[in-house]
Amino acid sequence: MASLLGFFICCGFLNFPRSSNASNEEDNFELERQTMVRTQIEARGVVDSRVLAAMAKVKRHLFVPQHMRLHAYEDSALPIEKNQTISQPYIVGLMTELAHIKPGDKVLEIGTGSGYQAAILAEIAKEVYSIEIIRDLADQARERLIKLGYKNIEVKHGDGYLGWPQETPYDAILVTAAAPEIPQELVKQLKTGGRMVLPLGDFSQELYVLTKNADGSATKERIIPVRFVPMVKKTEDRNQKTDNGFF
Ligand code: SAH
Repeated sequence: MASLLGFFICCGFLNFPRSSNASNEEDNFELERQTMVRTQIEARGVVDSRVLAAMAKVKRHLFVPQHMRLHAYEDSALPIEKNQTISQPYIVGLMTELAHIKPGDKVLEIGTGSGYQAAILAEIAKEVYSIEIIRDLADQARERLIKLGYKNIEVKHGDGYLGWPQETPYDAILVTAAAPEIPQELVKQLKTGGRMVLPLGDFSQELYVLTKNADGSATKERIIPVRFVPMVKKTEDRNQKTDNGFF
C-alpha cells in the first residue's frame, strides 16, 4: 500500500502542470532576488531605500540570456549577447545610489546593454534615456523594456560620447562602460549640481562621481576600483573580444 501511494505521489509530482513548475521557478527567483539585495547590496553598505526597493523588484533573470538564468542572482557580472556584460548587482546598486536619483529626475545612461540598469533607474526616476552603440543590443533591450511595461525609458542606438543633446540637461548621468578620460560632452549635458557616475581608465579602472559646478567645471570623487567593458569610439572594431571578470 505504502509503495502504491509512493507511486501515485511520484506520478502526481511528475505530472504537475507546467504553469505550476513555472510559478515554482518564479518563487525561487523571488527568494534569490531578496537574498541578493540583503547579502550582496545592503550588506556592502547601500542604504538608499529607493535603490533597494528597485533592486528587489526588477527581475534580473529576464535580462540575461536564457542559459544564464539560473545564475542571474549570483554576485557577479554575467555575459550577455555580443560579448558584452550585465554588471554585478552590487555595482548597479552602488552606482544608482551614488547618482542620488530622486523621483522627478531625468537620467541619461550610456551603455544600455541588457537594459537592466535602465530598468532600475526607471523605477526611481521620472524619465530615463539610454544609449547603446551596438544596434542589436539597443533593439533587444528596447523590446524587452517595452514588454516589461516600462513607459519612461527611451533607448537609442548611437555613440554615448555624444550624449543625447535633444533631452538635455540631465539631473544624473550613469556611464556603464569605461572611458579613458571624462567625456566632456556629457559634462556639458549635466545640470548644475547634477551628478555623473562613471568608471574611468583602461585595464586599471576606478569608479568616480563627478558633481557639476555652477561655472561648468566638475568636482571629482574617487570611489572604488572596478572593471567594466571599454566605452568604445564609433570607429573602433565592434567585435573586440571581452573576457569574463568585467563589472
Ligand atoms: N548597463 C548595462 C551593462 C553595460 S555593458 C546593463 O545593465 O546590462 C556596457 C555597454 O556599453 C555595452 O553594451 C557596450 O556595447 C556599450 N558601449 C560601449 N561603448 C559605448 C559607446 N561609446 N556608446 C554607447 N554604448 C557603448
